[in-house]
Amino acid sequence: VDISANIVVVGGGIAGMVAAVRAAESGLRAIVLERNTEERYLCATRISGGVFHCCIKNVMSPPEELEAAILAQAGDAARPDLAKGIAGDAAKGVRWLQDKGIRFMRGSPDPWHNFVLAPPNLARYGLDWKGRGGDVLLRSLETLLLKAGSEIRRGHEVTGLLMEGDACIGVKGTNNKGAFVARAQNILIADGGFQSNEELVGRYISLRPQSLLQRNARTGLGFGVKMALEAGAGLSRMDAFYGHVQAKAALTNSQLWPYPWWDDVATQGIIVCADGQRFCDEGHGGPFIANSIARLADPLSAYVVWDEDIWNTGGKSRYFPANPNLLTGGAEIHSGKSIEEVARLAGIDAAGLVDQVNRYNASLSGSSLTPPRSSHKVAPKPIIKAPFYCAPVCAGITYTMGGISIDRESRVLRPDGDPIEGLYAAGAATGGIEGGDRVCYVGGLVKSTVTALWSAESMIRHAQA
Ligand SMILES: Cc1cc2nc3c(=O)[nH]c(=O)nc-3n(C[C@H](O)[C@H](O)[C@H](O)COP(=O)(O)OP(=O)(O)OC[C@H]3O[C@@H](n4cnc5c(N)ncnc54)[C@H](O)[C@@H]3O)c2cc1C
Repeated sequence: VDISANIVVVGGGIAGMVAAVRAAESGLRAIVLERNTEERYLCATRISGGVFHCCIKNVMSPPEELEAAILAQAGDAARPDLAKGIAGDAAKGVRWLQDKGIRFMRGSPDPWHNFVLAPPNLARYGLDWKGRGGDVLLRSLETLLLKAGSEIRRGHEVTGLLMEGDACIGVKGTNNKGAFVARAQNILIADGGFQSNEELVGRYISLRPQSLLQRNARTGLGFGVKMALEAGAGLSRMDAFYGHVQAKAALTNSQLWPYPWWDDVATQGIIVCADGQRFCDEGHGGPFIANSIARLADPLSAYVVWDEDIWNTGGKSRYFPANPNLLTGGAEIHSGKSIEEVARLAGIDAAGLVDQVNRYNASLSGSSLTPPRSSHKVAPKPIIKAPFYCAPVCAGITYTMGGISIDRESRVLRPDGDPIEGLYAAGAATGGIEGGDRVCYVGGLVKSTVTALWSAESMIRHAQA
């Protein structure tokens, strides 16, 4: 055995580090194994926007309100006990981090931006993470981990679990010296999801995973899901991801992701395929539209269509709005005096688009529309004021919402609901909290912090028993 500890954590993002620090501070020895080798290794946490919200609401809102929001949007994708648990512990998670010296600030007048990691990442082209909130958080947690006598080992890629009978007793993997084995009473999978594993994304999310924009650190490689499955774990509903509607040009131009995005234009206007026809309810919001694009037979055949009024409202919203930043950043955008003209310029069916826009506009005065257009998140606006616009878009996948089944102690569950002894999962590796038909976005940072604390508390309790 090369490594031995009370707790072995797979992955050094926020989930892994929060759990390790909490456990280490209670006297347990935790070792975090991180596959990346760099001092400031990339992961979702390091490049995140740092917004601690719960279901796009202020994280300090009454738990009943948060729970109701999760259940209403996630439907059967959220386990009721997990929804209640996340809603009840979201504020506690933020307070715990504050207690560890992590600083938050108000990101905007919107209440769901009341707790943003400081310093915030500036709204600008391309990734901007050095010295920003996620980077500072991970470095602060590492300092606390070392101070508590535990450690993180970089360059250790975990590839499988060691089982003894029905119990998990360790992990195996590779580092620069070859194979290694680590044993512990408890193993925590916190590898950040499967968004960058083409085979798994192809199986669960999109027939053409290579046509999705990897709007992430490319570190969620699906190791956790695969090793948990091999150990007999159950998986939650796996079909949804958190993501945004991005410019198609972002596939080749790294300056065009993670921001600016097309969400705020698409949710006021319409999204169509090359035949000019709508294919989803834009009123459910940007992540929902991104999921709908990913499910198309060809996810690179989607276009957003809007008018001058939308360009000056939705197009101007947020810190780094689509208007003018997508235009100046090099995204393909066609404009013209008529819908027919922009359709021709974009290479989509002009008669089909004219007919679709007419029917969409008429629906705003009451006539029926297929697919329907709701205003759950954003009210639709008519497309009537020239100039008109059309732009090709793609689905940007940030992280997968489905994953390993857990309970309210973050213990990994078998399909029959029994926990696997010694095995935990936290963060974006887990499922049963977000997703569903309306693509409920609970919030990756809150989900990770809360599930990590659940796992640590449970391991501490078991160690004391
Ligand atoms: C651009 C972007 C913006 C975002 N903005 C927000 C936001 O504002 N608010 C919000 O709530 N959420 C946001 N998120 C989502 C949020 O950042 C994530 O959900 C959260 O950070 C996940 O944390 P994690 O610890 O589970 O995973 P990660 O932070 O991804 O960490 C997982 C770690 O595990 C390591 N790993 C993977 N496989 C192995 C292996 N086999 N062995 C060892 N190590 C392994 C990886 O290298 C990685 O370091 C954003 C994400 C992105 C990409």
